[in-house]
Amino acid sequence: MIKLLENFEFCKKCTKCCTKTEMILTLNDLKRLKKVSEEFYTYSNGFYRLKNVNGKCIFLENNICKIYELRPMGCRAYPLVYDERRGVILDDDCPLKTIPKKELLKGVKELLIALKEIERDYGYKVNWDLFRRSVNSIF
Ligand code: SF4
Ligand code: SF4
Repeated sequence: MIKLLENFEFCKKCTKCCTKTEMILTLNDLKRLKKVSEEFYTYSNGFYRLKNVNGKCIFLENNICKIYELRPMGCRAYPLVYDERRGVILDDDCPLKTIPKKELLKGVKELLIALKEIERDYGYKVNWDLFRRSVNSIF
């Protein structure tokens, strides 16, 4: 099992999920991050999203998220993501394959909050039945 500290060191070397990010921002994310920046978002395909600079998330600095405590809900949940066909999955793009159960549970809670906010803010419809069924299969 990979411990959190090991994950952190691994992530510092990887930064894949902070590269060419398309992370969707909820209105709460926007509000929270506007306290530290005015130029961190873009609007595409119907959603506000994190902006990239030179192919990396605007908040990535020296391979570390410089707004870690304030990061968007989707970043908190990652590598758990919601796929419209498969439901809740560990993102295929993330090389971490073993994540402690405690971290997975935390990620599910964060993903749940993110999806509820996305429904409220954008009128997006989540398949909650698929969400529940798929959550069971990630443990
Ligand atoms: S893609 Fe996975 S391993 Fe890489 S930085 Fe993101 S969470 Fe860490
Ligand atoms: S906000 Fe932080 S964790 Fe999220 S993509 Fe940007 S650098 Fe990565």
